[in-house]
This record gives sequence, C-alpha cells and structure tokens, in this order.
Amino acid sequence: MSTQIDSFVQANLDAYIVKTARLCAQPSVSAKGEGTHACAERVVEILTQHGFRVQKFATPGNPIIVGRVEGHSARTLLFYNHYDVQPAEPLELWTTPPFEPTIRDGALYARGAKDDKGEFIARLLAVEAVRAAHDGKLPCGVTFVVEGEEEIGSPHIAEFVREHTDLLQSNGAIWEEGGIDPDGRPEIGLGRRGVLSVELLVETMTRDAHSGGAHNLPNAAWRLLWALATLKGQDEHIRIPGFYDHVRPPSAIDLKLLEAKPHYEEWTRKTFGVKEFVRGLTGHALNRAVFEPTCNIQGITAGYQGAGNKTVIPARASAKLDFRLVPDQSPDDIFAKLREHLDKQGFSDITIEWHGAMWPSKVSADDPFVELTARTGAEVYGLASVRNPMGGGSSPVYAFAKPLNIPVVTCGVGYANNRTHAPDEHVRLQDFQNAARHIARILDGFASL
Ligand SMILES: [Zn+2]
Repeated sequence: MSTQIDSFVQANLDAYIVKTARLCAQPSVSAKGEGTHACAERVVEILTQHGFRVQKFATPGNPIIVGRVEGHSARTLLFYNHYDVQPAEPLELWTTPPFEPTIRDGALYARGAKDDKGEFIARLLAVEAVRAAHDGKLPCGVTFVVEGEEEIGSPHIAEFVREHTDLLQSNGAIWEEGGIDPDGRPEIGLGRRGVLSVELLVETMTRDAHSGGAHNLPNAAWRLLWALATLKGQDEHIRIPGFYDHVRPPSAIDLKLLEAKPHYEEWTRKTFGVKEFVRGLTGHALNRAVFEPTCNIQGITAGYQGAGNKTVIPARASAKLDFRLVPDQSPDDIFAKLREHLDKQGFSDITIEWHGAMWPSKVSADDPFVELTARTGAEVYGLASVRNPMGGGSSPVYAFAKPLNIPVVTCGVGYANNRTHAPDEHVRLQDFQNAARHIARILDGFASL
C-alpha cells in the first residue's frame, strides 16, 4: 500500500502545489474581514470537487465548512483546518507579494502557504492517494472542519462543535498544523495548555490628586501592586487557595518523553538574553515545567511615566494577566478562585474582567492513535518520531477533544522556519510531500485501530 501511496503523491505533487497556490491567491484575512467569504466559497468548491458532501454554516463571523465522506469502516478521522490567514503586513518585507504565490528554491511562498492552506491541501492529496490505493473508496470515513476565524482566536468553534456533535462524531482528529523539529524528526504534539486572560481594575478616587495629599488620599497604583503581590510569591508558587487542586501531574510516560526531548537551554538563553530561568531551572527541568500552571502579568497601567516627574496620586490602575492552565484545571474555576482570594485579602474593590479562556487538553502518549501517528511518521521521515506531551501555548483542541471524546494529535507540513505569520511565509515542497505521505499512512491504518 505504501508504495502505491508514495507514487500517487509523487505523481500528483505539482498539481496539488498549484491547487495550494490558487487558494493562497485568494486573500482571507480574518482580522480585517478581507476576502474571507470568497475564500470560504473556494473551500466549498474544492471539497465538493473531491467528492465530499459539504455544508456551510453561517456564524456571527466567518462561515464554518464541514465536508464528509464515508469509508469502508464506520470509523471516521476528522481534520481540523482553517482558511483564514494573518494580515500580510509589513508588505515591503516580502520578496514577492503575499497574495501572488511564487515557487522558488523548492518552496511555495505566499501568505497561508503553510498556515493553513498548505496543510489543508496536503491532506486532500493524502485522501486521494489512499483512495487510489483502495480502488476509489477510503478505508475509513473522513470529516473536514475548515473554519475562518482561527487567526482571531476561534470565537465560534467551541459552540459550533458542541451544537453539532452528531455531525462531527469521529474517532480521532488531526489538528490544523504540525511538522518536523529542528533535527528533521516528525514531532507529534499531544496536548496544549489552557489559558485564562483577565484584567484587574482598581479605582481609589474619582480623579487624580496632588501628591501633597498622599498622607490622606489612597493611591490606586499601590493598591493594585499589593493585590498583585498576593497572587504569586518570589518562589513562583501561586498563592490563590485551591489553584493547584485539579493539576494532574505528568504521567511516567510523559516524564520519559520529556527526558528524551531536547531542552534547547542554550538556544533559549541566547535568544532571550536571559541570565537565569525562573526557580533557577536548567536542563530537562525546563521541559518538565510545562506541566506547571503559570500566572503571568502582561502589563500594568497606572499614573505618570512621561519625562521628568509629575507629583500625582493616580486614581486608577489596571493590570492584564494570563494564567496558563494544565489538565485538569478549568478557567471558570480559576476565575472564581481568583475572585474569592482577592475578596478574602480585602480587595473586593478590585474588579476582574474576563478577557477570554481556553481549556487545557491532552491525549495520552500511549493512545493507539498516537502510536499509529508516531510509527507512520518514522516510516516516512526515516527518523524516530518525537512525542511532545505538552505545548506551552493554547489552542482550541479542547473544543473538539472534549465534546467528541476523541484523541487529537498534530502532524503536518511545517518545519522550524516557515515564517508563519511573518513576511515570506512558505511551505517547502518536500515537507508538503512528506506530510501527504504521512497522513495517507495514518488514513490507511486508522480503520483497523
Ligand atoms: Zn496561524
């Protein structure tokens, strides 16, 4: 089967790169609402051409497209992708214009070439390769969910999945992105942390006052700092009671995988010019720390910071914070505990605004789907797959994993320097080809898991 798959991918590579280029030529910048609806139409056409039954669902933002096709087995593999892209600015830093796709040095350059139009079309190539190897019918069902708001935080996807669990019923999903690590090994992501973003606001007076009155008048900046100081100690321990209640420690296999994963201590030290990591961490402990939740101050606003001095007592102060959360913490529980904590500490005058949240999500490292992905990855790339138990960032994996109760993994067309979100975004044709070969093998083996 693998030989047939590989020769189909090889023979059709050029045509699918052209298909990717055409899709990239259609701008679809969700941040500016530029071309997104036209691009959604293109996705509908493409999926229809490939024999999918396609439904387009309107949202208050950009439409979500679902394409489904049956296979020999009742098992279904779900692909999550998105057709929107990041803004292309600054335009002058592109070697060729972002929406005029160009092939040079073995890569396709365009906004969206990697993220996420290249990923999407490479999967279609995999689908066709498997069909060709099985006389036209897939061994398992395939469902594509292609949304148009990923680059603006996917505000509608979680609700959509919750409301369409019957339609989206499946047995596993491949996330929108993936690829190889800096050493060329296929990297399989097993989880993402959650996040809770909030803003704390305090107002001690209705207007700023002369600092000659500081012996009587309350300063909002001090009040905010005192409140912030109760959240975390210098030992990095978060002091909100119950904050760690639902933290699930990494499993023995997770710890083994983290130990096997390169830690990039020197690279990180140099890149950020950091003298000492938090808690004095070094080596593999830097990897392990991703299983700990964080409380990060994004920024603080209060009072006067211009030239010279202004002897003033600020009446208002605010801070933006984010908490990265690990399984099985939940943003609403943490939000409630933060409120309760500030109240108990005497800061009930501080308001907390909810600015957004994502839940953590993680598949077990020894899930058969993970093993299939790792085994087929090693076959294609000729190097053992790296299973990364947890990524530091957040994405709406939970929106699928939880309501559909399915394992979600990553694999795809990426490498360390795709310049995703930046000028000269590109996908290398070799990576595109390998990703199609890899995903085709997953599709081929998925029915018999
Ligand atoms: Zn992106």
